[in-house]
Amino acid sequence: MNVLVINCGSSSLKYQLINSDTEAVLAKGLCERIGIDGRLVYQKTGNDKEVTEAAMPTHKEAIQMVLDALTNAKTGAIKSLDQVNAVGHRVVHGGEKFASSVVINEEVIAAIEECSDLAPLHNPANLIGIRVCSELMPTVPQVAVFDTAFHQTMPAKAYLYGLPIEYYKNYKVRRYGFHGTSHSFVSKHAAEFLGLDLDNSKIIVCHLGNGSSISAVVNGKCVDTTMGLTPLEGVVMGTRSGNIDPAIMEYIAKKENLDIAGIMNVLNKKSGLQGLSGVSSDMRDLESAADNGNEDAANAMEVLCYGIAKFVGGYVAAMNGVDAIVFTAGIGENSGTVRSKVASYLGYLGIELDAEANAKRGEDMVISTPDSKVKVAVVPTNEELAICRETVALV
Ligand code: AMP
Repeated sequence: MNVLVINCGSSSLKYQLINSDTEAVLAKGLCERIGIDGRLVYQKTGNDKEVTEAAMPTHKEAIQMVLDALTNAKTGAIKSLDQVNAVGHRVVHGGEKFASSVVINEEVIAAIEECSDLAPLHNPANLIGIRVCSELMPTVPQVAVFDTAFHQTMPAKAYLYGLPIEYYKNYKVRRYGFHGTSHSFVSKHAAEFLGLDLDNSKIIVCHLGNGSSISAVVNGKCVDTTMGLTPLEGVVMGTRSGNIDPAIMEYIAKKENLDIAGIMNVLNKKSGLQGLSGVSSDMRDLESAADNGNEDAANAMEVLCYGIAKFVGGYVAAMNGVDAIVFTAGIGENSGTVRSKVASYLGYLGIELDAEANAKRGEDMVISTPDSKVKVAVVPTNEELAICRETVALV
């Protein structure tokens, strides 16, 4: 069957049409500048990218344009919409209500709406995508796949913060974790690829991209993760600070005359690798700046790698051991420098990297030596394929 995977943001929308039998991507692309002017990028597999500027006042016009492009007589990937058998939607926050993917109905929509408080920028946009697809394809089943669901197996000791318990009981303030679709896909695929028995395994997944999170996965279930109530917590990211002393917020607010929105803007958009280096949020830029002697860029990379190593060490303790450490996402898949810097802290685990293997990038590979006591691997993430698989499993 063919599954249309939709990842709807507030002014953009990414899509892929996947044949679930062969897992081949038939077409993919994105809509940008929705509500501003509008641009559709469409690429049928094997063809060149087509870019069309067209008015997209709302997501409805955007999704209609995607469907028109997919069924276009000349360049479409399918003949008619009858060949879209299901739609899988990425939904950022499922709160405590969703520990797995679900077929969407009115009750599910209402529950996602209730979680909007926890992800005010994302869930409303995800809901727009769901509503528009239901309207334009009323007979096609729609499935919601949540970024938070995989982490719902965390025990209370991992998800509770040291705050008055009423905040959890009344407002559901707790660690949720994100990138769950990636952590789930990568941990399962890594077990398979490394010949581990998933039901008897301890795996640490380092999803290192523009946003980064690390998770500890025991027997295929998440027991801890670094992101929290929001994706701001955890390791240093592209522009997000990750963990800081919360008292810094008041201190800087006074010094810089900022209100809470101003502080949150700094922590989300001006911190992390960008803030530390003053160069860029992009690891490629940091690597070349550091190579050219920029000390702030070099320090930004060290802060990231040291921080990752400390979380990995913490998760080895949490799981009482580890079989494999797996790197994924833009930095994890591509930066041999980051991987080797992280591994350099983990010699006490008996980890040894194979320098030649670690110099490669972007493919499934073992980067530890055969003698290494813990396997270290790279597994490219594929959230769209994971959403497609979840969707097929439910419809
Ligand atoms: P993502 O959010 O998963 O798309 O990851 C984006 C991050 O991956 C950015 O920091 C990029 O600089 C980084 N990245 C992508 N390609 C490379 C590369 N070849 N070497 C180092 N970092 C890379």
